[in-house]
Parts: sequence; structure tokens; C-alpha cells
Amino acid sequence: MLIPLVDLKVQYDLLKAEIDAAIQGVIDSGSFIGGRQVEGFENAFAGYCGAGHCVGVGNGTDALYLALRSLGIGHGDTVITVPNTFIATAEAISMTGAVPEFVDVDERTFTLDPEKLEELLERKRKRGDQRAKAVIPVHLYGQVCHMDAILGLARRYGLSVVEDAAQAHGSVYVRSLVQKPCGAIDGGLTDDCMEGRSTSMAGSLGDVGCFSFYPGKNLGAYGDGGAIVTSRPEIATKVRMLANHGRIAKYEHEFEGINSRLDSLQAAILKVKLGHLGEWTEMRRWNASRYRECLSDLDPERLLLPLEAPYGRHVYHLFVIQVPHRHEVMEGLKESGVATGVHYPVPLHLSPAYRRLGYREGDFPVAEKVAKEVLSLPIYPELSSDGLSYVCTHLRKILDRT
Ligand SMILES: *Cc1c(COP(=O)(O)O)cnc(C)c1O
Repeated sequence: MLIPLVDLKVQYDLLKAEIDAAIQGVIDSGSFIGGRQVEGFENAFAGYCGAGHCVGVGNGTDALYLALRSLGIGHGDTVITVPNTFIATAEAISMTGAVPEFVDVDERTFTLDPEKLEELLERKRKRGDQRAKAVIPVHLYGQVCHMDAILGLARRYGLSVVEDAAQAHGSVYVRSLVQKPCGAIDGGLTDDCMEGRSTSMAGSLGDVGCFSFYPGKNLGAYGDGGAIVTSRPEIATKVRMLANHGRIAKYEHEFEGINSRLDSLQAAILKVKLGHLGEWTEMRRWNASRYRECLSDLDPERLLLPLEAPYGRHVYHLFVIQVPHRHEVMEGLKESGVATGVHYPVPLHLSPAYRRLGYREGDFPVAEKVAKEVLSLPIYPELSSDGLSYVCTHLRKILDRT
């Protein structure tokens, strides 16, 4: 058997008629930038995220950059984020002229650790360092960060919050209104646990939420694409202008912006795919529960399953296990025809790209350990039940001999 990490072709085959019609519709309309298609998708995606506004942009990196710019962030400022993310999160900060500042993550969720954020902010306060203007929590692998704690700190220390939701389309944050024990035996919240709880979608919690529609993301275009969502109309207006040359009307420029627009073909494709996102998320979650069933008896020293935090509903963009002998496990799976990935092998503070920031090995021990041990297994929605069992069987065999 050959099992890829993601399979975009099988999804297209299932949606071919719908997608082809949408593409043909755009070509027939003769309108390729902006217009009805883009507006239609923006409205649908804003509604899906429970945010008042959505602005389509060129890609997820630009979404982050434009979000920061719309908040007035630039030279002389710093923006706090985590080291174990895709480089785009930090690049977007540098693009504004600001400097990225890292904070370590929680060892079980791999997302920003609010306690470490508080320590960093306290240290800065004592030093009289007031440069930090924003924090970018990354909803890594499809799991929302501990947002109440992060939002509380942001309020207390006067920071804006820009969510990197590039991997978390449709992920849900759950606030408990009544304290009651609820079914998180590593499997997260069951539906009957939602009662008495208020929920918000990833991206709608901070000042701005940023999404990528890179083809392999949970909601992926057939090319590059991205969006911001926000409930603050002035931010939506500012991002829309920044993404379109600072324009208020043709040849009337309020300020300098860039060219970063979601094109009509991608918007039409995304609108079709958005209609299926809920069902794909359930398929990903089903696959995750199957992995848990077939791997949960293994010694956690040899294989650690991902934790689903009680405050969120994971959408499993990636199913990431931790294995001490990662190289052997990857090679073994590869020999059996199973593709895997590492997200991410080098924490950003140790990447040559950020050498200038002066961080050293040991600065963020959790992110450093995680980078050495994480392994992403195939979990795309259309992965067959036989395929998943095949991955489990071979993984267990390899672990038995390592
Ligand atoms: C994919 C991704 C981005 C960047 O998105 P692009 O559309 O590729 O520019 C940013 N942050 C994270 C966490 C991502 O996974």
C-alpha cells in the first residue's frame, strides 16, 4: 500500500462537477479580481467563523502581515510568538519592521504557554521595556490555544492579539460557563459536553484572525490564498485598503499598501469547498479517534498521542505523535509506503534566518524537545479505514523493534 501525507486529487475527484462548474462560472463572467465571487466567499467565511468581517488576501503570510500593519505595528515594536511554528508567523512580523520575540510552548499541547508569556511580560515590565505591541498565538496542528488566559494577559499588558489560524479552520474554542467534569479522556469534548458552554471559532477570538488557504490546509484553494476575519470594522477596512495599494477608489491612494488580493477563481473554489469543511473536519476527527484506539495501549515513553485540550475542539490539520527514535520510525514507515512529515524540525529561534536575534540553544527547552520528537501521520479526510489500519500496524511493528 502507498499512503501519502495528504491527497488532494481524491478530494477533487469527489467534487469534480461542483468545482468545475464554479471555475467555468468565473471564466464566463470575465471578472478575475474581486467582484461577486470574492464577496460571496468573504461573506460565507465571515459567517462560518462567527466574525463580522472577512477580507480575502493573497496568502496566509500576507494575512498576518496585513493584520499587524492594520494595528499600526512597525519599526521600533516587537511582537511575541512561539518558536515552533511555520516561519511565516515570524516573517510577517519582520515584514512590518517589527522584531519577533519568542516564548516557549506547553509540553502537551505544543501551543503558547500563558504562564511563560506572563513571565516574559513581567520581565519586560520590570526592565521598563514597552516595545511589545502584540502577541500571535498559533493554533498549531488545528488546536486552539488557551485563549482566555492569553486574552486576559493581552488586556492586562496592553497587547493586540493576532491569531495565526492558518491550520485551524473550523476549530472551536470552548468557554465553560458552568464547571462540570467533561469527557476528556485524551479524546476531548463530546457533543453532550457542550451544554452550558459558550463556543467561539478560531480566528474570532482576538483582534484579528489570520487564515491560509494553501492547498494542503484544511480549507485549501487551488493555488495561494488567505484571509483575515475580525469583528472590528475599522480593521477590516484598513486591511482591505492595505491589501489593495492603500486605495479608496481607483487612483485615489490614502497611503502605500501592497497588492495582495484573493482572486476570483480561488474564491469560487473556496466557496464550494467551504460547504464541505464541516464534514471533512468530522472525518479528520474520526480518523484521529481511530488512531487513538489502535495506539493508546502503547507505552507513552515510546509513543505519545496528541492531547486534545478540554477547552477546544481540534480539527486535526495534522495528527502529531511524539516518538523518541523519530528517524528510525520515519524510515521504517517510508519503507512500508507510508509518508510522514515533521512540523517542524528546527525551532525558529535556532534557525539561521533568526541568528540576528541572538537566541541560543536551551532558551526554549520545550520547543527544542518537541522539534526533535514530533512526527505527523497521514490524517486527511479521505484516508481509507484500511489505509489507517495499515499505518497503525506498521507503526506498531517498527516501535517493537526500535
Ligand atoms: C501555512 C501557514 C502560514 C502561511 O500561510 P501561506 O498561505 O503559506 O502564506 C502561516 N502560519 C502557519 C502556522 C501556517 O501553517
